[in-house]
Formats: sequence, C-alpha cells, structure tokens
Amino acid sequence: MTPFTYTCNPSRVLFGPGRLAELGAELNRLAVRRALLLSTPGQAMRAKTVLRQLGDQAGGLYARATMHTPTDVTADALAQLKAMECDGLVALGGGSTIGLGKALALRTDLPQVAIPTTYAGSEMTPILGETEGGRKTTQRSPKVLPETVIYDVELTLSLPPGLSATSGVNALAHAVEALYARDANPIISLMAEEGIAALGRSLPHIVRDPANHQARMDAQYGAWLCGACLGAVGMALHHKICHVLGATFDLRHAETHTVMLPHVTEYNAEAAPDAMRRIERSLGVEHAATGLFALNRSLGTPGALRDLGMPKPGIEAAVELVMRDQYWNPRRPERIALCAMLGRAWAGEPPKPG
Ligand code: NAD
Repeated sequence: MTPFTYTCNPSRVLFGPGRLAELGAELNRLAVRRALLLSTPGQAMRAKTVLRQLGDQAGGLYARATMHTPTDVTADALAQLKAMECDGLVALGGGSTIGLGKALALRTDLPQVAIPTTYAGSEMTPILGETEGGRKTTQRSPKVLPETVIYDVELTLSLPPGLSATSGVNALAHAVEALYARDANPIISLMAEEGIAALGRSLPHIVRDPANHQARMDAQYGAWLCGACLGAVGMALHHKICHVLGATFDLRHAETHTVMLPHVTEYNAEAAPDAMRRIERSLGVEHAATGLFALNRSLGTPGALRDLGMPKPGIEAAVELVMRDQYWNPRRPERIALCAMLGRAWAGEPPKPG
C-alpha cells in the first residue's frame, strides 16, 4: 500500500422506493421553511405534484433549468428566488436541474436537496459547470455540494431507455477515469469498481424492461458511487475531450461520453494496466475497452460522433483544443494518436490501440 489522501464529501443520502415522501422532513432537518423547487420544462408536471405535496414548505417553482447551466438562466432563477423569499433549494431532475441548484447555492449559500432522476451523478459532487457567452467553465466548491440527496427509484421509471443508457454510461465514465486518476486512492477505487459493476449489470435490463424496479435501483446505486468518484478525484483525458466536443460542437452531453468512453479507455490501456484489470473484473469481460464498446452496442446507444452532429473537419480543431489546455492523463496526449482515435469515434469504428 502506498500513501494516499482521501477526501470525503459530506452529504446525507436517502435511498429507496417512495423516499420522496420524506422531502418535507428533510427540509425541516435543514431548517428550510420556503423551498424553491427547480426542474426542466419537461419535468414541470412532476415538479408541480411535489409542490402540492410540500404545501406551505414550498415557495414556488422555477421550471426553466437548461443543460450546461447558462448564467442568464441562473440570474433569472435567482431573481425569482429573492422575489419569493425562499430559504432553500430542491432540484428535481437530472444534471441540468441539479446544476442550476448548485449555481444558486454558490450565489446564496442556501441548503439544497437534490432528487436525481437520471444517472449523471452530479448530485454527489462539489463541481459546478457554467456557461457564459458560449464558454463553459468548471469550478469546485463545498458550497455547491447538496446537503441531502434523495434517490427514489419511482422517479427514474419514466426516463426513456435511450437516455437511461447514455446517462448510465456517462456515470461509468466517472468511475473509469477515477481508477487511473493522478490522485486515485483505494477507497474511491473500491467505489469505482462497485459502481461500474452495478451499472454494467443493470443497464441492459433497463433497456429491455424500463419498468424493472430492481435494475433501476441498481443503476441509481451505481450512479451514486460513480458520482462520488467524480466528486473526489481528478478526471483526465476522457472528460477533457467530452468537455471540448460538447462546448465546440454543441453535442449532447451523455451521448458524447457514451461514444468516447471505449476509445479513451483503449488510448490509456497500456499506461494504466491496473485500472484496466479492475474495469474488466467489474464488467466480467476480457478486455476493458472492447467490453465497454460491446456494452454500448448491447444498449443500442449512438455509436459515432457523426451521428451526434459533429462535422468531420472538426476533429483537428478538437485535438488542438485538447492539446492546448491539457488535463493530467496516465498517457501523454499525442496529437497524431488523438486524431486517429477521434477519427474512429467519429466513424463509429471499434476502439483500437494506437
Ligand atoms: P438532463 O438533466 O439535461 O436531462 C436530460 C433530459 O431528460 C431533460 O429533458 C430532462 O427533462 C429529461 N429527464 C430527466 N429525468 C427524467 C425522467 N426521470 N423521466 C423523463 N425525462 C427525464 O441530463 P443529464 O445527462 O442528467 O445532465 C447533463 C448535465 O449535467 C450537463 O450539463 C452536464 O454538464 C451536467 N453534469 C454535471 C456534473 C457535475 O458534477 N457538475 C456531473 C454530471 C453531469
């Protein structure tokens, strides 16, 4: 065993079917008297039901959460928060809604309850990504970590199979990169292996039978663990590339992670053999990158960057941006190898050493 540093991000987690009913009690615990409820437009109906459930404990609903947390939306929500004299935040939704809750918490220091309805894992991290003038910046602050997280499986049953799959693979990516992070540690690696195993076994069941409660709960458990990995250690080349592709070509977040993960895993395979063995053990496969590619195929997720709308000439520009402002990675980013890798990901080819 070598020396290591482990940071625990403190949050309280309620896990299980029907736990949403305890939201009022959780707000009392946090001394919140008038919560502002947050959602995307698509989840506004569900949020209104929660609003009614809360009665006097709810100050209002802001249902315009948007992907990548644009600062103008945050400013609009902040004005509503102040006008309604709310003293707490409830984010009901995926990473976009939870991102808005974090952005408001950063500006107000109000307590937050996050109720995730996807598998992206943002609820377990002290990380906030915000977009202003088309540019996305990311910061870490203990202020943005939700105080309480409620994982209620009932809320995930409506997540369509395609989104369930890509959101789950987005979570897998956090755990994969945690295994070879510069500041990897044995505690987080345990969580990473368990998270990969939980998502690897549950996602195929969910895609076949979206109403499968047990598989949905397994996936939420995996998402929790993978989110904790993202929150505790640094991410590497995979997250850097997805960040660049999302911001430069406006590609959808979870789908981009899904397409890229097998390719970046292969890129790092020789430099991170221990991480590869752990991924293989968790997924029950012989080869990490090929196993992840096969998992994607079995889930029917988009397989090519071109299908997400990326123009082929964009490959060189993306590599340029990745090279310019590098994240630490177990293998040095090499321009030619990255161009070849992105070429394969663009065309939907299997991962290949190189
Ligand atoms: P999302 O929150 O944008 O949701 C995608 C769509 O699914 C939305 O239209 C939403 O209304 C809908 N939806 C969500 N849950 C649903 C459900 N149960 N049933 C039916 N529809 C549902 O997607 P996401 O992938 O969860 O989040 C992506 C965002 O999260 C990105 O902005 C990303 O940067 C951010 N993120 C941040 C972190 C972090 O730690 N800061 C981690 C992961 C993702």
